Amino acid sequence: MSNKIINVTKTFLPPVEEYEAYLKQIWDDGQVTNNGPLSKLLKQQLCSYLDLPNLLLLQNGTLALQLAIEALGIGAGDEIITTPFSYVATTSAILWQQAQPVFVDIDPDTLCIDPGKIEEKITKKTKAILPVHVFGNMCDVAKIDEIAQKHNLKVIYDAAHSFGVKYDGKSALEYGDISATSFHATKLFHTIEGGGIVCKDEAMFEQLRLKSAFGHKFDDHITLGINAKINEFESAMGLCNLKYIDEIIARRGAAKAIYDEQLRGIVGHQKLVNKLTYNNAYYPIILSSEAELLDVVNSLNADGIYPRRYFYPSLDTLPYINTNDCPISDDIAKRILCLPLYDDISLDDQKRIIGIIKKCLKK
Ligand SMILES: *Cc1c(COP(=O)(O)O)cnc(C)c1O
Repeated sequence: MSNKIINVTKTFLPPVEEYEAYLKQIWDDGQVTNNGPLSKLLKQQLCSYLDLPNLLLLQNGTLALQLAIEALGIGAGDEIITTPFSYVATTSAILWQQAQPVFVDIDPDTLCIDPGKIEEKITKKTKAILPVHVFGNMCDVAKIDEIAQKHNLKVIYDAAHSFGVKYDGKSALEYGDISATSFHATKLFHTIEGGGIVCKDEAMFEQLRLKSAFGHKFDDHITLGINAKINEFESAMGLCNLKYIDEIIARRGAAKAIYDEQLRGIVGHQKLVNKLTYNNAYYPIILSSEAELLDVVNSLNADGIYPRRYFYPSLDTLPYINTNDCPISDDIAKRILCLPLYDDISLDDQKRIIGIIKKCLKK
């Protein structure tokens, strides 16, 4: 029994001197927010690192989703097809924009939306599809695109987990009409709080940019907006972290390989699609029942280890929406657990986690 607490994730923090150097710049400059020099520099560096055509830096990933829905003119009376297997923000963003989420069940292997079940849920009110690239895996983007074209729907991807992921040689963030991501402290790459939008259509990108900053240019009020701007302190954190991201991804990859080697055949895993360059963002395991999951969680907790039931619950069972019509998502949500994974997790801690899981599964 050790006293050390191990959580599902640990926020990477750069050497403090490196952050302080940027603080000095902020003090010298006097500009703390509103598209300042550090946010411009971060945007440039991220576009270059991720090979993106453009990127709108925002205050968080939830606002990125809301802005996408708002900019596409989707609201009251409209339906958005989405997945129940996600973090609550995917659904709450739709509801907050007054639209109706319509859930389509997931593929039990990839854990992403099952494209074969989308068309039966399309109605006259359907305006968009909002799938999630779950845990950095990739949705079936070709099929989703085909369905969207056929029914004249927009596609917004929740790519909150997809930083650094490539699919078919392109950044995961380039797919769909609009792709929204998160740079929250619990994500692979972070700016403390933060988010971003990628959108190939230049006019739409400009709308999104305007809407993220009150919808006006000087005294010219062009469109309804909100305040979703990133600030210079957050941008400074992003600039510091980006320097280390390749190292972070590689070290997480090494930790993932250890889990893989020790847990293969013992627990279930998400099936990553072909043509994917993975980012090692999460380590989900799928157990055979909720009872087994609870046994594993309790045993790990007793040793100061806190994995996370993620995603749980299935969003079609949220008390304020409850459609309860996605049995696969509901089943997997009860049996899936994300194990601790971060760049400096020690081999000893991983061995302890693996040992406890193996002991539980032998009972
Ligand atoms: C984290 C997350 C969000 C929300 O991002 P924030 O930056 O925390 O607002 C949305 N969707 C998914 C799938 C997420 O994991």
